[in-house]
Amino acid sequence: MNRRQALKATLAFLAAGPLAARAQQSPRIADAHSHYGLISRQIADRDLAKDMREHGVALVAWKLVADGRWIRGTNTGIEQHRVPSPGELALYFDDAFARMRAYIATNKLRTVLARADVDACVAGDAGIVLASEGADFLEGRVENLDAVYDKGLRHLQFVHYIRSPVGDFQTASPQHNGLSEMGKRLVEACNAKGVLVDLAHSTLPSVDQALEISSAPLIWSHSWVDGDGGNWQDRFGFLRRRLSLAHAKKIADRGGMVGLWALGLSRPGYGWSVTARSMSAYAQELANLVDRIGADHVGFGTDIEGVGADWAVNDYGHVRRVVQYLEELKLPASTIERVAYANYARVLKAALRS
Ligand SMILES: [Zn+2]
Repeated sequence: MNRRQALKATLAFLAAGPLAARAQQSPRIADAHSHYGLISRQIADRDLAKDMREHGVALVAWKLVADGRWIRGTNTGIEQHRVPSPGELALYFDDAFARMRAYIATNKLRTVLARADVDACVAGDAGIVLASEGADFLEGRVENLDAVYDKGLRHLQFVHYIRSPVGDFQTASPQHNGLSEMGKRLVEACNAKGVLVDLAHSTLPSVDQALEISSAPLIWSHSWVDGDGGNWQDRFGFLRRRLSLAHAKKIADRGGMVGLWALGLSRPGYGWSVTARSMSAYAQELANLVDRIGADHVGFGTDIEGVGADWAVNDYGHVRRVVQYLEELKLPASTIERVAYANYARVLKAALRS
C-alpha cells in the first residue's frame, strides 16, 4: 500500500479501541510485591481487579503486611513501635487474609495455587498470588504454615520490620546471625509444601543460609541492588534495604529473581536515580540491573502503596508505561518479556509443588 493508505490503516487501527487496547497489553505483567488496596486505597474499591484486567497483568503477589499494626514511620525509615501479645499476630493475619480472599472471590480473580494457574494467567487470566510480607503470623511455629497454605498462601517473605523468631532483618541490629533454627526449618517447610521463599528485608547472612538450604530458586521481591548492601546503621531506610550485588548474583546463579521497587526519592542520590512519578528512570534502573545480573533474573517488585508518597508507579497503567519505556530503551523483546512477567512466573512455578 502507498503512504496514504498506510496512514489510513494506522488511524483505523488506533481508532479501534478494544483492539488497540489489546495490542498494548503485550507483554503480560507480573508484580512480585504489591500492597494494592491494602495500605492507602480501600480494599473495598474494585480498582485492583479492574486495573489488572485493563493493563494485561497476569500475576500480582499480593502482600499482606503481617506486622502492619506494630510498625510506624519515622523521619528516616520504618521501625517497630510496640511488641505484639501472644496470639495477636495470628489473629491480625487471619482477619486481613480473609478480607483479601473475599475480595478475590467477589471480583472473580484467579487464586494462584498450582502451576496450571500460573500458565492460565500468562495466557490471559488475572491471578493473585496470596503472599505475606513477614512470617510473623506463624508465632514462631513452622507447623502453623500448614493451615495458611491450605487457605492459599503461596509466597512468603520471612521478615519485615519487627523482631522475629525467624531471623534477622536489614533495618535493626542482628540477633540471630542470619536465620534462626526455626527460620532454617521454615525454608525446608516452604520447599516441601510449595511456597515461594522471599528473602527481601533479610540480612545478607540469612540470604547465604537460605541459598544453602533451599532446593528451589529464591526471590528477593523488592528493593534495589548496590555495592556491599545495606547496614542497619545506615542513615536512611532505603539505604538499609540495599541488596549487595554479590548476593543478587548468588540469587541469580541459583535460578532466582530480584524484584526492583518503584521507590521515588525527593532528589536522586546515593546511587538511586528514581524520583517521584519518574517511570522512565524506573525503567532505566530495571535496564541497569539487567546489565548487572542478567535478563533472566530481574522483575517488577513495585511495592505499590508501600513505597510512600514519592512513588514512581502507583497502579498498573503506570507499570504498563514503564514497559513502554523499556521498549523505547531498545531492550530486546525477549528481555522485556522476561522482566515484565516471565521471570516471576518461572520462579513461582519452580517453587510450587503441583
Ligand atoms: Zn517491604
